[in-house]
Amino acid sequence: MTAVQSRADSTITVRNPATGAVSGTVPIDDPATVAAKAAQLVSAQPEWEALGPLGRKRWLLAWQDWILDNADHITEVLISETGKSHGDASIEAVATADAIAYWASHAKEFLADRHPKAHSPLYRVKRFTTAYRPYPLVGVITPWNFPFAMPGLDVPPALAAGAAVLLKPSEVTPLSAVEFVRGWTEIGAPPVLGLTTGYGETGQALIEHADFLQFTGSTATGRKVAVACAQRLIPYGLELGGKDPAIVLADADLDRAANGIAWGGLFNSGQVCVSVERVYVEAPVYDQFVAKLAARVGEVQQGHDGDTGAMATEAQRDIVARHVDEARAAGARVVTGGSATGVGTYFAPTVIADVDSSMTCMTEETFGPTLPVIKVADENEAVRLANDSPYGLSATVWTADKRRGERLARRLEVGAVNVNDALVNVFCPGLPMGGWKESGVGYRAGGASGILKYSRQQAITSPRLPTQKSELLWYPSSKRRMAVALGAMRVFAARGRRRFGRRPSSG
Ligand code: NDP
Repeated sequence: MTAVQSRADSTITVRNPATGAVSGTVPIDDPATVAAKAAQLVSAQPEWEALGPLGRKRWLLAWQDWILDNADHITEVLISETGKSHGDASIEAVATADAIAYWASHAKEFLADRHPKAHSPLYRVKRFTTAYRPYPLVGVITPWNFPFAMPGLDVPPALAAGAAVLLKPSEVTPLSAVEFVRGWTEIGAPPVLGLTTGYGETGQALIEHADFLQFTGSTATGRKVAVACAQRLIPYGLELGGKDPAIVLADADLDRAANGIAWGGLFNSGQVCVSVERVYVEAPVYDQFVAKLAARVGEVQQGHDGDTGAMATEAQRDIVARHVDEARAAGARVVTGGSATGVGTYFAPTVIADVDSSMTCMTEETFGPTLPVIKVADENEAVRLANDSPYGLSATVWTADKRRGERLARRLEVGAVNVNDALVNVFCPGLPMGGWKESGVGYRAGGASGILKYSRQQAITSPRLPTQKSELLWYPSSKRRMAVALGAMRVFAARGRRRFGRRPSSG
């Protein structure tokens, strides 16, 4: 629990971290309430599934319209509980509408039955079908950094798959999720999207009822969620923390690299799982790059109408301050920024140079507006240091040679690499988004697999030809029929003379 929100017995009071003003309250759902909500959703799900992808598309697109029509209001609610700048906050509704359109429009194609060919002529008498049937109830647990867009990434593909969804937002920022679900209800859509609010215990209760659990948040909490899911034997997806490296090669356009890394590190005040958190620069351009980066970062304006906003919580601001203070004490050079501003939870956009790899700003997830920079001898050292992390979410590479950039991408132990750009993959649902190493389990989005992850696969076989009363292997057993069956299987299972029960001739 943080100082920007407080807990009564049955409600959470949400405050704006930039101003301290009260923004609203939500109930704390106890396990019985979560169970009742889950049961209602599960009872409505079969009808939702029966609508098929095109029937569901109608409701998804009506919801998309509602979100766009209410985007200004959603943005103000977002600001009221996160302290984001208007610019950072306003992206969330539009990005969510974009994602809904993608899943609604592609669901029919992605969920279509597959008819795999028989692997052996013996089975050509059968018609094979792989059908996709949704998990009845998908639980989605989201963090506070993108209170509207994070549900926007995970809920639409689950609904498009035909699942019902129960959403549990962070205790810090539940009000945007209230809007998210209110939109669905206001358009009169079937009651297959629900909201449950509360603390970690409410999230735990949700896991007790979900058939699939999608979680975004810290690696520490993700581990607990995985254990709880394993105990219930339900599948899960985890999108966890990151410590994304940027590699600036000597041939890069340094202005673009500085501009892109500044944005990739400071967007949403650095509270993005795929923020640039470490910068490795080849020695020949190190000084020049640091000067350009510091100039760009030094110009960044904070505030409601500025480029970036406040930190979501005091606790988060304190982590950022600790990392900067520890780097400074260990001999790093703060080039610009370097401290909390004293207003709300704002922390000044910061560049730290002459950092070394042992400092906490390089080893722990900071999740704030800081860019520590290290000088490296060459690309091999950059790759070695970039990979020397328990995290593996994403990375950026900056170079004039696109092929070299793509080659380098394949040497990085991360789930996504943007060459000469930052964060762009996150906005493209055709691409998979997932963390390697301790940054996650599974992937979100990624075209068809982004919707199929919320589906159970069902294999169906049926005869192509008129059937007999019995089959070779059925009872009563007969040595002769068994020999015929095994002989036929062997013909297609083996190569050369082995097909006929003989060994290949030697020599
Ligand atoms: P958490 O991972 O603790 O919380 C994420 C979500 O999980 C919240 O909705 C939270 O609810 C819920 N939750 C907490 N405990 C449980 C549990 N035992 N079972 C089920 N759900 C649970 O994130 P924090 O807010 O504590 O942030 C800590 C750090 O995580 C940050 O400093 C940052 O480094 C990282 N982080 C990473 C994000 C990412 O996008 N990868 C996003 C946000 C944070 P509640 O809030 O009500 O406790």
